[in-house]
Amino acid sequence: MKATDLKLQELLTFSDGHIDFQGRRLVLHDINAFSQLRKDLLEGLGPVPTRRILTRFGYYWGQEDAAAMTRMFKWDSLEEWLRAGPVMHSLQGVTKAIVQDLQLDENSEHLFMEITWHNSGEAEEHLAAVGIAEEPVCWMLTGYASGYASFCMNKDIIFIETQCYATNKPVCTAIGRDVESWGKEVEPYLTYFHEIEIRKKILDLTEKLKLSEQKLAKQRKNLPKFKTSLPSFFEVNSPAFERVVELATRVATYDSSLLITGESGVGKEVMARYIHRLSLRNQGPFVGINCAALPESLLASELFGHKAGSFTGASHDRCGLFEEANNGTIFLDEIGDISPSLQLNLLRVLQEREITRVGENQPRKVNVRVIAATNRDLIKATQEGTFRDELYYRLRVIEIEIPPLRHRTEDILPLARFFVERFSKKLKKPNVKLDAKCLNYLQEYTWPGNIRELENTIERAIVLCNDEIIRPEDFSLKILYPANPTANPHRSLAEIEIEHIQNVLELTHGNKSQAIKILGISQATLWRKLKQLQ
Ligand SMILES: [Zn+2]
Repeated sequence: MKATDLKLQELLTFSDGHIDFQGRRLVLHDINAFSQLRKDLLEGLGPVPTRRILTRFGYYWGQEDAAAMTRMFKWDSLEEWLRAGPVMHSLQGVTKAIVQDLQLDENSEHLFMEITWHNSGEAEEHLAAVGIAEEPVCWMLTGYASGYASFCMNKDIIFIETQCYATNKPVCTAIGRDVESWGKEVEPYLTYFHEIEIRKKILDLTEKLKLSEQKLAKQRKNLPKFKTSLPSFFEVNSPAFERVVELATRVATYDSSLLITGESGVGKEVMARYIHRLSLRNQGPFVGINCAALPESLLASELFGHKAGSFTGASHDRCGLFEEANNGTIFLDEIGDISPSLQLNLLRVLQEREITRVGENQPRKVNVRVIAATNRDLIKATQEGTFRDELYYRLRVIEIEIPPLRHRTEDILPLARFFVERFSKKLKKPNVKLDAKCLNYLQEYTWPGNIRELENTIERAIVLCNDEIIRPEDFSLKILYPANPTANPHRSLAEIEIEHIQNVLELTHGNKSQAIKILGISQATLWRKLKQLQ
């Protein structure tokens, strides 16, 4: 392992209220709060105690990092372990630390190390709190470098800052040596490092951390397996979808026919597969077909099979999807689109539990659970006579209605992050992350194409993003400016007005008295406009 192999993302795990750094807990601090603390210390205690406190704080931190580095990694050499210190310092955002010179003598007794600190946060803090300094002020940085190197070398290494950004120099520079090599020169500085016995404490702590990590690893191994074997819906954050999943879970083990409804792209097939996996038929096949994708004659032969010679091109006997799905589940998507004669055939299958291949007379028994899905209003279709009501009632013994994504906004970000992970693997951009600026856009867009549109949006953004960060500009304009009426300049005022009224009603979940407040119109006007709409 080399110092340059370190990657921050791999060192950190973010969980609720906790940033875990391989068993240690890290906290993010605001630099302005720190500069206020520095100012308070300087004013309250004076410069010498302040410098000692901050130096020792940095020293402790450096020792902790050095201990962690040897606990976690096998270094190619003592030199690489030493070089990992400045890398860690940089990864943690404290400064950009560059090793200018590093000399270890043959027996690793003496060290000479020169580091430059670019963009020192501490120098910035000092400038903000106190102003230009007369002497170098990167006390925490020198403490850190000293603590880190002392831990690695197992002897006192003291860094002295020779020039500092806070004294109007372009960069900060520090020299580190063992106390012996420094000689008398280092004596005035030692007072800031006193009580260097921290090493013993850190070693004890390191032992404890090792033990607790081993314990955690053991616990992880023993976690009950059922959780991962259950097909899970990671995106269940919204009460609306939680109810749907709960219903689906409850009905999965019964053999009743199901009708899944909802707009296009809400994930009806995913839901059907979920139910199949939870059902008692989960050892049997799951077979799906989009009924709108095939013309009537082909669809019949696809579903029920055919006898050789029953129509042109039917050269062999062929079994259909119902037979293929025997002892399993068949998923019929876009069921609202099938023709009247196929509706009749399907009704017979549901009633008699048998199918007849096209061109045959002999029925064959099938044992299949039917899950159908549609984005059409089937009740309306039965009233209009385009869909058989008997079939409708047979299919929808239980109906599961999946809400559109805009009614379950709590699920948008978990889904988006899931797709980021999935596509970053698929598209071989493994470290892609969403920039925090994207989150508002994702949550505020109404997603007319639902989850499928979100999925496509994320895939497109990952393809387009230049570095490994997805930024708002990687989204399409309609997501960035969704309600921009000038986006389509060919619409009339009346169209825009009606669309706005619909959006407001959606926002208020159909509450008209709230809607008229937002729209600034009377109840009567709203009523009249809605009437026009019908
Ligand atoms: Zn400095």
